[in-house]
Amino acid sequence: MRIGIDLGGTKIEIAALDDSGNEILRRRVPTPHTGYGDTLAAIHNLVESAEKELGGHGSIGIATPGALSPKTGLIKNANSTNLIGHPLDTDLSAMLHRPTRVANDAKCFALSESVDGAAKGMDVVFGIIAGTGVGGAVCVGGRVLTGAHAIGGEWGHNPLPAPQGDEEINNAPLCYCGKHGCIESWCSGPGLARDFRNHTGRDLASADIAKAAASGDKAAIEAMQRFYDRFARAIASVVNILDPDVIVIGGGLSNIDALYTELPPRVEHYAFTPEEPTRIVKNVHGDSSGVRGAAWLWHIDEVKNGLPA
Ligand SMILES: [Zn+2]
Repeated sequence: MRIGIDLGGTKIEIAALDDSGNEILRRRVPTPHTGYGDTLAAIHNLVESAEKELGGHGSIGIATPGALSPKTGLIKNANSTNLIGHPLDTDLSAMLHRPTRVANDAKCFALSESVDGAAKGMDVVFGIIAGTGVGGAVCVGGRVLTGAHAIGGEWGHNPLPAPQGDEEINNAPLCYCGKHGCIESWCSGPGLARDFRNHTGRDLASADIAKAAASGDKAAIEAMQRFYDRFARAIASVVNILDPDVIVIGGGLSNIDALYTELPPRVEHYAFTPEEPTRIVKNVHGDSSGVRGAAWLWHIDEVKNGLPA
C-alpha cells in the first residue's frame, strides 16, 4: 500500500491507498504548534497506528508547504514556520525506517489530478491552486516535475504579464516573497478582495464578490472581469511555454463556476495562436488532493517491487 500524509497548518491528514488506488484508511489530527519534534512525533503516531490497523507497511509520501531545497536538503519557503530549516525527509526516513518523499502541496495537487482526477489520461498537466495564495505545478506522464531548485511550476511569483495602470510593477503590491506585482498578488482570493475594495471601498470576501457578480452587482461584475482578464494573461504565459493538455484548478477560487467558461476564450486571445482554447477544468479531488498526491509520490511499480531499504 501507499501512504500519503498532508502536513497542513491546522491539521495533519493521513490516507492509505491500496494497489488499485482505492482509499482504505483516512484520518486526521490537529497540527501541533509546540515545535518541530512534536510534528514529527504526530506523523510517526499516525503512520504507526494506520499500519497496525491495516496490518502492513506502506511507502510514505508527504505533502507540505514549502519545498526541500536540493542544495541544502532543508525545508524552505514554508508558511508553517516550524518546518523551515529542517531536513524533513531525512528525519522522517530515520524515524519510520524507510525512504520518504516530500513535495509541496501544489505538486501533490497536480499529481493527484493527473493520476486519477480531472486530468486522468492526459500527458502534460498544469495544476493551479488558487486560494489564499497562488501555486502551480507541472506533471508530465503522471510524474511531477520538481526542477533543479524545487521551484518548478511556482508561477504564482512571476510578475503579472502585460500590466496596466495600478498593475504596473512600481504601483503593484509587495508580495511576501519580496517582489512587486506577483501573479499571486492579483489572482489569489485576497488579491481579488483588495482590488474590489480599492475600486469600491467595500469589503467583501472573494467568494462573495463572485456571488454578487452572479446576481448582477455592477461593481462586482467589473471586478470579476478584471480578475478573469488577469488570470487569463497569467495562464497564457504558461500555455506559451508548456502547451498543456489541460489546466486543472484547485483551491477556494476553483469553486467559482464561471472560471471555466470565462477563462478559456481569454487565454486563447492572449496565447500564441493556439488552434483551440486550452482546456481549463475544475479539480475532482478537492481538499483530498494533498493526501492523495502525497501517496502517489511513489509509483505502484516501485512499491510492488519492494521499497528500497
Ligand atoms: Zn511573490
